[in-house]
Amino acid sequence: MISPDPSLTPARVTVLSGGVGGARFLQGLLHLIDVTGAATEVTVVANTADDIWLHGLKVCPDLDTVMYTLGGGIDTERGWGRTDETWHARDELAAYGVEPTWFGLGDRDLATHLVRTQMLDAGYSLSAVTAALCDRWKPGVRLLPMTDDRVETHVAIDDDQAPSGQRAVHFQEYWVRLHAEVPARAVVPVGIDRATPAPGVVEAIRDAELVLVPPSNPVVSIGTILAVPGIGEALRSTAAPVVGVSPIVGGHHVRGMAAQLLTAIGVETGAGAVAEHYGARGAGGLLDGWLVDTADADEVARVEGTGIACRAVPLMMTDTEATARMVLEAYALAAEHLGADR
Ligand code: GDP
Ligand code: CA
Repeated sequence: MISPDPSLTPARVTVLSGGVGGARFLQGLLHLIDVTGAATEVTVVANTADDIWLHGLKVCPDLDTVMYTLGGGIDTERGWGRTDETWHARDELAAYGVEPTWFGLGDRDLATHLVRTQMLDAGYSLSAVTAALCDRWKPGVRLLPMTDDRVETHVAIDDDQAPSGQRAVHFQEYWVRLHAEVPARAVVPVGIDRATPAPGVVEAIRDAELVLVPPSNPVVSIGTILAVPGIGEALRSTAAPVVGVSPIVGGHHVRGMAAQLLTAIGVETGAGAVAEHYGARGAGGLLDGWLVDTADADEVARVEGTGIACRAVPLMMTDTEATARMVLEAYALAAEHLGADR
């Protein structure tokens, strides 16, 4: 059982999130808030650089994963998409020979993309659309896209046929069609330099009492959020402590393709290396605190040497209770940091 310390409960927590890793972390955070009876407001700034237009529809995988997970509509086996899903529309599209066939949109999920695309076509912003979708799902957090502007991560891969020897594919094609099995040579969030933070994003970071960075992908989830002009600056200047959780355990990502993409950006696949990549806030980086798994206890000294407070605690999100304990460790590290500041 979790024994709460009332001094550790911030009133406003802002969380940067990708899809599955971020959503599971948020389940733990909401469980902790629930069992402690704390009046904590949670704002989530979600990555939208995974977004893709398919069959004329705007698909936002990370926003939807967070919304469905916290709203009770997620397929828990897959970790993404709707529960009780059927695939008739996908099969019909394939029967027409319509590409791409590698990205399957489920029938229930399609309704979300239809509503979103209609609203975007009518002139609503992605923020407004997300709020409207959340009216149904009631995720228990304020869910904000990182930006209302179009940003799409592309990955450069080798291609003998291309004059340059490389070509770019959408991140979804790299992951879903190619299973991240070919080397990634570069990762480019196309459009990011002209993107602006969505309404409320900078304020949520500035006015938070605690900012949490879940074990989301450091390159294509957290990395893209940080790359939106203005968001990195807000994180560097907020009075709130910023505490992150390593997605790398024992030198491997727990799921997904973080190792391939870290390699592409020249960062070693290690819990300490990712912390160094984010950097200490005291040295112009983003982190005050960092949690590594107990398997990586030997990295703690290295991380602390860069000016980031670090603890080794269990980081496997096996169930909501275990994840809530992980969040409590992040609270404790933030409280220690605030203590040190006073
Ligand atoms: P995505 O958008 O669905 O890929 O999800 P995120 O970017 O939010 O999270 C993906 C990251 O979560 C991967 O890099 C995984 O290594 C990490 N991850 C998944 N499950 C766990 C877990 O149980 N513990 C830790 N520490 N990391 C995890
Ligand atoms: Ca994602």
